[in-house]
Amino acid sequence: MTVIGRFAPSPTGPLHAGSLVAALASWLDARARRGRWLVRIEDVDTPRCSAQAEAQILQQLAALALQPDEPPERQSSRSALYEAALQRLTDAGLVYPCACTRKEIEGALRAAGVLHERHGERVYPGTCRAGLQGRPARAWRFHTEARGTPAIEWQDRRLGAQQQDVAREVGDFVLQRADGLWAYQLAVVVDDAAQGVTDVVRGEDLADNTARQILLQRALGLPTPTYLHTPLVLAADGQKLSKQNGAAALDTSQPVAALAQAARHLGLPDPPGSALAVRASASTPGASLSDALIWWTAAWEDRWCPTRRSTLA
Ligand SMILES: [Zn+2]
Repeated sequence: MTVIGRFAPSPTGPLHAGSLVAALASWLDARARRGRWLVRIEDVDTPRCSAQAEAQILQQLAALALQPDEPPERQSSRSALYEAALQRLTDAGLVYPCACTRKEIEGALRAAGVLHERHGERVYPGTCRAGLQGRPARAWRFHTEARGTPAIEWQDRRLGAQQQDVAREVGDFVLQRADGLWAYQLAVVVDDAAQGVTDVVRGEDLADNTARQILLQRALGLPTPTYLHTPLVLAADGQKLSKQNGAAALDTSQPVAALAQAARHLGLPDPPGSALAVRASASTPGASLSDALIWWTAAWEDRWCPTRRSTLA
C-alpha cells in the first residue's frame, strides 16, 4: 500500500518555526517511505482564514522545496462531503441536535455540581440527548455513548500507547457549529479518508483530538491511519509557539538553515559539513538544499521507520 502523508495548515497566518516542524516531519515521513505527500488547507474556520495567508504558506513551502505531489485541497470547497458524512451519522442515530448556549451548558454543569474544564471548554453534560424540548436546534453533536463506552486506545508512533474515554473526558462533541461552520474533527476525518491518507504526522497539540477522530472513523466505517505527533516548539512564556502568541513568520531566505532548526527539534542530526557551511554564499543553493533534504530523509528513516530498514537489509 502506498504511504500517503499530509500537512494540513490553517491559513490564519504564515508558517512559523513551530508549524515547520510538523510540515518537515510529515514530508520526511512520506519521502522516507517512498510515499506521496499532500498539502491540505484547513480553512473550515473561515472567518479567521485568509487567501493571503494561504498564498504565503504555499510560497514558504516552495522556498523550502517541500512540494506537494498534488495541488493543495481546500476544506472550504468540500462542504458537500461533510454534509454527506453528517447525514450518514444522523441516519445511524449517532448525531443529535443541540439547542444549548454556552451559558446554558455552564448553568447545567453548575447545577450538577461539576465544572469540569478542559482546554477552556466545558464537557457537554448531554442535556439535549433527551430531545430539544421545543427549543430550536443550534449545533449538531456526536453521541459518544450511542454504541457503548467509547474508551479509545491507539498507538502513537512517537508517544507510545495512548487512551482516552471520550464520553468522560470530552463529552458529546460538536460536528456542526451553531454558526453553521463545520467542526475541525469531522472535516479532518472525512478529508483524510477521501484523500487516502495512511499516515498522519502532525504537532503534539493535536494528539488530544485523535480519540475523537478514531471514534468518527469507526462510526463512518473509515480506516484509521497511523499517527505520529511531533514535539511542540515552545514560546518564551512556555506556551506552544503559535500565531496567537506572536510567533514570527518563518524566514525562508536561508532554506537549509530554517530546515536545520526544525530538523534538530525532531532529533535529527545536521547534514555533514558542506551543506550547512555553504548556505549563506552558495552559488547553487538549490543543490545544497536538496542534498540536505536527502540527508534528513535518510536520518528520519533510521529513526522512525526501523522495520523498513531491516526488511531491506
Ligand atoms: Zn444541548
